[in-house]
Amino acid sequence: MKALILSESLAAARARLAAALADAGRPASAARLLAVSKTKPAAMIREVWHLGQRDFGENYVQEALDKQAELADLDGVVWHFIGPLQSNKTRDVAEHFAWVHSVDREKIARRLNDQRPEGLPPLEVCLQVNISDEASKSGVSLAELPALAEAVLAMPHLRLRGLMAIPAPAEGRDAQREPFARLREALEALRERFPEAPLDTLSMGMTADLEAAVLEGATLVRLGTAIFGERTAPA
Ligand SMILES: *Cc1c(COP(=O)(O)O)cnc(C)c1O
Repeated sequence: MKALILSESLAAARARLAAALADAGRPASAARLLAVSKTKPAAMIREVWHLGQRDFGENYVQEALDKQAELADLDGVVWHFIGPLQSNKTRDVAEHFAWVHSVDREKIARRLNDQRPEGLPPLEVCLQVNISDEASKSGVSLAELPALAEAVLAMPHLRLRGLMAIPAPAEGRDAQREPFARLREALEALRERFPEAPLDTLSMGMTADLEAAVLEGATLVRLGTAIFGERTAPA
């Protein structure tokens, strides 16, 4: 296997996002890169930070806290929690992250709101939507989304920024676009319903489907493998 050179893989990921935005006829600033560093060592995050990357996504709370402690000297890191979130982990997330992309029920939102420390800005929240309607996947259903959004909008320590989804894997650009289009439409509907809300974020697109997501309006693409290489640990 070819040795991974992070400066090259990050440059390639940036170029890929820029090309996707250009193909979609969108401005270069319309979407940014979230570097998904789960299972990867703190040293790799540090290297990518030195190359200018600031947004990092983690899935496992304890692993993330360990890396955050190791990287406490880095300025300007924005930590995003993107993994499944259990009630007993909400306090750590409320205290140690700027963003959460995986809120999918009111109980979790309420705990995050109650546990967000007073001295910190509101936690930036995306609601995870079960866009492929698979019984096994997490995420709020489209039917229950408006009620959950309304509840979160009333929580003073959370700021509802948008929606996130992890569609079922699909082959081909058109098949990949379809669930992303549904997520975009769901965000548009929320914007109409709650015109005062800061709903500016579509967190969608990973290594396998970035281009399809950007065509449907992604504003934050979550790239792991494309930047850090294959993961060996289960994730
Ligand atoms: C692991 C993960 C990613 C990154 O996936 P890649 O295919 O490695 O780019 C993005 N989003 C979530 C929620 C993940 O768990």
